Amino acid sequence: MTTAAPESRTFEADVAKLLHLMVHSVYSDRDVFLRELISNAADACEKLRYEAITTPDLLGEDPKARITLFIDTEAGRLTIEDNGIGMSREEMVEALGTIARSGTKAFMERIEAAQAGEGAQLIGQFGVGFYSAFMVADQVDVYSRRAGAEGAAHWSSDGKGAYTVEDADVSLAPARGTRVVLTLNEDGKTYADHFTLERIVKQQSGHVPVPIYIVPRPE
Ligand code: ADP
Ligand code: MG
Repeated sequence: MTTAAPESRTFEADVAKLLHLMVHSVYSDRDVFLRELISNAADACEKLRYEAITTPDLLGEDPKARITLFIDTEAGRLTIEDNGIGMSREEMVEALGTIARSGTKAFMERIEAAQAGEGAQLIGQFGVGFYSAFMVADQVDVYSRRAGAEGAAHWSSDGKGAYTVEDADVSLAPARGTRVVLTLNEDGKTYADHFTLERIVKQQSGHVPVPIYIVPRPE
């Protein structure tokens, strides 16, 4: 395997705009970030299940889909991890650096036209996806290993216009799938709490067809 050097890249203009809108709009319901990250984790498990129909080896010795929320109260971190399909470094650049989704574009048009204070409702309605993590986090680190791949990749950003991608130390990535580590911002610290997470999961992710575990991660 060839090792590519770490790179720093700027977000596509639309992403930077979206991040700015999300962080600065008046919202009351930041809880939606969890729904979005859990829904991505569940999608990744579903994609793996589908690919495994023709390539059963992808499941290895870990055939059962799961999503785990690790709480590190001390460090103010929340980790959302899945054992789904995972992403290669190239897939990360494509998926987490651009807005490929038409739904997100529609959201941006709406929010720009909206009155101050309507932002929260719109975020709830449109499902703005991965970038909603920056409503609660100062920094987001994504470690991922694609099913069947040996190497892992690491994506990192403070949501302020740029991100880095590099080949990751495999010990930092799941054996298969994706680990999203949120370094919670001042207001976001409330999410490093078992009962808060349990409440939100029940309210917003009850329909998710993959089991969700909430566990402490003492460092
Ligand atoms: P959407 O889920 O609607 O496509 P998101 O902004 O939520 O939009 O996510 C963008 C993309 O990032 C996803 O389509 C997927 O390709 C990738 N992605 C995000 N989270 C994960 C994950 N946990 N595992 C694999 N891919 C992911
Ligand atoms: Mg999504």
